Amino acid sequence: MANDASTVFDVVILGGGSGGYAAALRAAQLGLQVALIEKGKLGGTCLHNGCIPTKALLHAAEIADQTRESAGFGVKASFEGIDINGVHAYKDGVIGGLYKGLQGLVASRKITYVSGEGRLSSPTTVDVNGERYTGRHIVLATGSVPKSLPGLAIDGDRVISSDHALTLDRVPNSVIVLGGGVIGVEFASVWKSFGAEVTIIEALPHLAPLEDENSSKLLERAFRKRGIKFELGARFSGVEYTATGVRASLENGKQVEAELMLVAVGRGPVSQGLGYEEAGVATDRGYVLVDEYMQTNVPTISAVGDLVPTLQLAHVGFAEGILVAERLAGLKVVPIDYDGVPRVTYCSPEVASVGITEAKAKELYGAEKVVTAKFNLAGNGKSKILKTAGEIKLVQVKDGAVVGVHMVGDRMGEQVGEAQLIYNWEALPSEVAQLIHAHPTQSEALGEAHLALAGKPLHNHD
Ligand SMILES: Cc1cc2nc3c(=O)[nH]c(=O)nc-3n(C[C@H](O)[C@H](O)[C@H](O)COP(=O)(O)OP(=O)(O)OC[C@H]3O[C@@H](n4cnc5c(N)ncnc54)[C@H](O)[C@@H]3O)c2cc1C
Repeated sequence: MANDASTVFDVVILGGGSGGYAAALRAAQLGLQVALIEKGKLGGTCLHNGCIPTKALLHAAEIADQTRESAGFGVKASFEGIDINGVHAYKDGVIGGLYKGLQGLVASRKITYVSGEGRLSSPTTVDVNGERYTGRHIVLATGSVPKSLPGLAIDGDRVISSDHALTLDRVPNSVIVLGGGVIGVEFASVWKSFGAEVTIIEALPHLAPLEDENSSKLLERAFRKRGIKFELGARFSGVEYTATGVRASLENGKQVEAELMLVAVGRGPVSQGLGYEEAGVATDRGYVLVDEYMQTNVPTISAVGDLVPTLQLAHVGFAEGILVAERLAGLKVVPIDYDGVPRVTYCSPEVASVGITEAKAKELYGAEKVVTAKFNLAGNGKSKILKTAGEIKLVQVKDGAVVGVHMVGDRMGEQVGEAQLIYNWEALPSEVAQLIHAHPTQSEALGEAHLALAGKPLHNHD
């Protein structure tokens, strides 16, 4: 890294995760001079501690389940157990390949990559390793880290975060998963497939509580069938160490024992002690506040990704980073419609959605204006072949567009691309019903749900 102290970059970006590196790549592509500062590894949480490693574990889990169930497909195979070192080698191989590719990409775009911990020293400067980097604009993209509950210490041994879970050197016999949101249910799914006894504790009435209630209930039914236990509407009151692990207590008096406990109660912004407040950047509970163009209250400073209070998803970070880069390069940009962002929880079965829930639609449009239709995957050939159960539910504004698509079933995450086009192009059910879906695919189920909503169901038993 050669920093010419006299260089004034067009953009100095603090944090090289999904949000920061997307901003850097797009800004450089548009001809801006960019410095990207990262204290850990380029790629951030998503590549090293989030999306990619968890999805590799979930794929290994799927193979374990398929091996166990192979006789049901007429294939002779026997499941002998999980070689956790082998699983980590596979996972790390995926990460390593992507990491190398990303480093090459950043280098090829002539971005000045600075390795080190940065601190905002003014509205136009960031200090790193004793050097000062000046930018006409600064983009804050320092991301998030696992949160805990007041008084609950994560010791990294028996009480762990997702970061620890990703490098655990064994398959635990039993696990308590504190939190039934996306991260919690994905780890619960992996560990159950790997052979652990799993109990999820969730304070809200449902697993995946941000999803349409129908999807949450289908997920709960599927998890129950898989032998994953859960306590819903159960407030955690404390944990103590036992001779062999931990004992979690709930406010309702119940206790759950296990070898270890994963704390998956959400992630909080990384903004403390980084000079943000001193530079006058407005924050709320640590989140940097931005307008719909990702601009903070300080004219030279923008912020993106998990650091701002929008959906904590890698593709949201990418989109916000690109939006900022294009705005700083003088292009016309359009604010992000966060309801139109596809959301996938990659447990087995998968939960995928785009748009709004039925409850939200009723709130917005009035109950009498909201129409729904469902298609059960039992009527879908490909889902039958895969032996997966689930449902697609559509939410429509009466005589209007589809405003919500909610899907549960193995591989339904792959259908969310079509669902997002339907939502974002404000498609009418009759227009989607007109489109021919290939047979036999799971995408047909999406087509069938629209046929039902258009009043001409084909394979619907309802
Ligand atoms: C277990 C898990 C699974 C997930 N699965 C998915 C998924 O399947 N799909 C999905 O879309 N999202 C998923 N996410 C969320 C996704 O990882 C985040 O939304 C995304 O990484 C946010 O990107 P970011 O750039 O805002 O922050 P981060 O990726 O956290 O990047 C911030 C970067 O800033 C760096 N940094 C912080 N402070 C400084 C400093 N002072 N100086 C220099 N550098 C600094 C950090 O080292 C880090 O690399 C998952 C998250 C977790 C934890």
